[in-house]
Amino acid sequence: CGIVGYVGSPQRGDGAGVEVVLEGLRRLEYRGYDSAGIAVVTPDGVRTRKKAGKLANLVEQLQADPLPAATTAIGHTRWATHGGPTDANAHPHVGVGGRVAVIHNGIVENFATLRAELLEAGVEFTSETDTEVVAHLLARACEPADGPLDLAAAMRAVCARLEGAFTLLAVHADAPGTIVGARRNSPLVVGLGDGANYLGSDVAAFIASTRDALELGQDQVVTITPDSVVVTGFDGSPAQGRRFHVDWDAAA
Ligand code: GLU
Repeated sequence: CGIVGYVGSPQRGDGAGVEVVLEGLRRLEYRGYDSAGIAVVTPDGVRTRKKAGKLANLVEQLQADPLPAATTAIGHTRWATHGGPTDANAHPHVGVGGRVAVIHNGIVENFATLRAELLEAGVEFTSETDTEVVAHLLARACEPADGPLDLAAAMRAVCARLEGAFTLLAVHADAPGTIVGARRNSPLVVGLGDGANYLGSDVAAFIASTRDALELGQDQVVTITPDSVVVTGFDGSPAQGRRFHVDWDAAA
C-alpha cells in the first residue's frame, strides 16, 4: 500500500501529473497492494481512474480512457482492509457532490458510526470501504463557503472526528494546484522540488524527482502547492516537519 501526490507549476506548462504519479506508484510496488488508482484536478472537476489488480491494469485503463493533462495529481495502491479488492473499492474515493477526491492508507476504526450518520443524512455510498466516509465528510466540511474554500481547515475538522490510523491525501476541484495531506499513526513525507512539490507514504514515492524531504509529525496536516508547504497540527496551530536529505541510493 502506498500514497503519492504531485503538484507542478502551470507556468512551466507542466501537465505531467499522471506520469509523475504512476512513476511514484511503481516505486512503491515493493510494499504490496491489490488495487491502484489516480485522481487529477482539472478546471472542470476531479477525475479518477481506478482498477483492481496490478498497476498494469490501471495503465491499460488509462491508455483506453486517458485522464487529461494535469498539474495536480494523487495516486494510491491499496491493501484492502474493509471491502474486497474490487474496482469500486479501489481509491480514490469521491465525496458527495463530485468535487473532492480522497486516498487513504490505514484504517478508520470508527467508520461504522460515521457511515450510519452519513446514511441518515441521505448520502449514498458506492463502496464498502472505511475510507469513503472520509471523502463524504470532507465534501460536507467544504460546503459552508461564505468565504473562499479552506481545504486544510476542512481536513482538520474531519481528522478531529476520525479514530485509528491514517495517511490521507485530498484534492478539491475548487482548489486547483493544491493537495492537502494528514497523518496519524501512519507515515507521510513531503518531497521538496523546484517549482513542484510531492507527497509520499515513503520517500520512494518521489525519489526520482527530489531528495530534499520533510517528515511530518504525528497529528499534522500539510498543504502543498508548487511553491509552498504549510504544516499545522490538527488544532490549526503552526507546526514544523523534520527536514532531511535522502542520501541512500534509492534511485536505482
Ligand atoms: N482501509 C482502507 C481500505 O480498505 C485503506 C487500505 C490501505 O491502507 O490501502 O480501503
